[in-house]
Amino acid sequence: MRQKEIKKTKTVCTYCGVGCSFEMWTRDRHILKVQPVVDAPVNGISTCLKGKFGWDFVNSPQRLTTPLIREQGRFRPASWDEALDLVARRLKEIAAQHGGDSIGFIGSSKGSNEEAYLTQKIARLIFGTNNVDNSSRYCQNPATQGLFRTVGYGGDAGTLEDLQQADLIVIVGSNLAENHPVIASRIKAAQKHKGQKLLVVDPRMNEMAERADLWLRIRPGSDSLWACTMSRYMFDHGYADAAFLNDRVNQVAAYRASLAPYSLHYASERTDLAVGQLIEAAEMIGQAQRVCLLWAMGITQHSHGADTSTALSNLLLVTGNYGRPGTGGYPMRGHNNVQGASDFGCLSNLYPGYEKVTDAAVREKWARAWGVEPTALSAKVGADNFMMVQQAHEGSLKAMMIIGEETAFSDADSSKVHEAFSKLDFMVVQDIFMSRTAEFADVVLPGCPSVEKEGSYVNTERRIQRFYEVMPPLGDSRPDWRILTELAARLGHPWPYHHPGDIMAEAASIATLFAGVSYARLSGWQSQLWPVKADGSSTPLLYTDGFKFPDGKAVLWPVEWQPPQEEPDEQYDLLLNNGRMLEHFQSTNQSGRGGRMFNLSPNWFVEISPQLARERQLSEGDWVNIASRRGALQVPVTITARAAGNVLFIPIHHGKPGINSLTGDHHDPDVNTPAYKEIAVKMQKL
Ligand code: SF4
Repeated sequence: MRQKEIKKTKTVCTYCGVGCSFEMWTRDRHILKVQPVVDAPVNGISTCLKGKFGWDFVNSPQRLTTPLIREQGRFRPASWDEALDLVARRLKEIAAQHGGDSIGFIGSSKGSNEEAYLTQKIARLIFGTNNVDNSSRYCQNPATQGLFRTVGYGGDAGTLEDLQQADLIVIVGSNLAENHPVIASRIKAAQKHKGQKLLVVDPRMNEMAERADLWLRIRPGSDSLWACTMSRYMFDHGYADAAFLNDRVNQVAAYRASLAPYSLHYASERTDLAVGQLIEAAEMIGQAQRVCLLWAMGITQHSHGADTSTALSNLLLVTGNYGRPGTGGYPMRGHNNVQGASDFGCLSNLYPGYEKVTDAAVREKWARAWGVEPTALSAKVGADNFMMVQQAHEGSLKAMMIIGEETAFSDADSSKVHEAFSKLDFMVVQDIFMSRTAEFADVVLPGCPSVEKEGSYVNTERRIQRFYEVMPPLGDSRPDWRILTELAARLGHPWPYHHPGDIMAEAASIATLFAGVSYARLSGWQSQLWPVKADGSSTPLLYTDGFKFPDGKAVLWPVEWQPPQEEPDEQYDLLLNNGRMLEHFQSTNQSGRGGRMFNLSPNWFVEISPQLARERQLSEGDWVNIASRRGALQVPVTITARAAGNVLFIPIHHGKPGINSLTGDHHDPDVNTPAYKEIAVKMQKL
């Protein structure tokens, strides 16, 4: 018998926000290899470990292959008709009884742009609620807020090309080599071949810190103080770009006045950095012609992450580092499509393309396009992820639809989240596995991973790329865009989408940001970077001809440093930091299936400093109980210079109930992002 031909299909990585694309070689359902190609716009011939080998989950026997309905506490298989009829009926009943605002929708940051668009369309058009969000609430919203305030667009200022052109890369609160490995490789190459300088600001030693020209081991939670101090130094020592500030920036005088408290000595006392280190960093920034500043969850997952993001963007403005090649602010996006889920409207305050739900003209535009009266669309900002959990607890939120998000594991203070889910009248989860979140559901709908459907993603550069069907859906699972379309039809809205390209065409015809986006222009290895003009032209570098404000000028936005909401005290005397590892991804729902990836680093641990190990008489491998005010977990210690002083580090991937049994519900009041990195704990040897 002749062996079948090898099929080669372009796809986009399902893991991080770098957005690597490559060919996947398959024979039937067997993934033979991942082949990077030179035409790939982001990564060329590179991938990391996960993009190359992290695909065992696709054919995992644990995949959901049929809808499930909970009956008498147990799930039983059901037909699609039965499951979708039940979901439509229950959501309609709850909306009729309690109103549309009693239902909340969480869209997927791993689903496609088109699926995000449909999720928010169901919420807004069918239920008249803006209760829609995505996992960017856990991570990128504070960075987006900082950029909205200062430069106007919520995305990265330029592309990876710009990162390579910079004279100086500043990385603050990002473990880039493990979380965005291909970007880290590009920076390492620029260091080696172009003499690019690297400044890293991070309380934990990581690979980029070790490679840096200068690494500042800063006290956790003092980053905005550091950024304000750097800005003041620029003004005080002639490094502020006077022409740029005069021509292109508003509020300069008020901002400069706000920096008065941030002397080097004030900063040194509160950041654990010597005055000499602060001066050295400031001189590096001031003397560089082109600076790119990268930041991530080490900044955003704090109780003042939006302010710190604002302070970092302010520093770039003061030094004239926006709007030129090799400059700008680059918050790193975690999930492969957390940017797209936000871009395409899974946010409680914004339609696709970042158009405000509170703007009457915007609502009128969307209502006309969707064929309803403007009054059908809510003018009220909806509940975000954080608020939905609160409202479910209080009883005003009655139902939730969660698509491809592991909220029960990833949300802060997980026992409170579990209690909230248990109180809902109805919950539907759409996922590819029986996740910890799905265990709370009344109905579970089996969706498809990226390789079993078509769609598009947006990476951290604002780059929109298509991915293609590598293999058909497993069993009776269905592409998520199709499930949402079929649900909408049962809710009285028979939308004429036959392909994800139809959905993108509709979004592009309404949202100005995507005016010239089309599947034809995205075919093959082509990509587009938003904003995309009607003629299809992209914008790789933002702000070359003005900032996204009515007068085209940026805004220097004063911020006041405030200490973390939860800090070590007498009872809970240690601080717990946490984050991702190269071998895993978030809840490990994908990277942990099949064992190959997971077994590269199978064990949970807590990193402690040699000093702390001596003080507590702990040896490598000793088990400890780590307790916060919310919960406790048991892990073995590893003693390493990556940790310092009384700051511990635990990877976020392992365990049941996991790291979020320790985190609290304190959060950034500007954006409701949980302060995952502010956990006071105590540690006892077992
Ligand atoms: Fe995938 Fe990110 Fe690795 Fe690229 S860097 S292969 S997008 S996980």
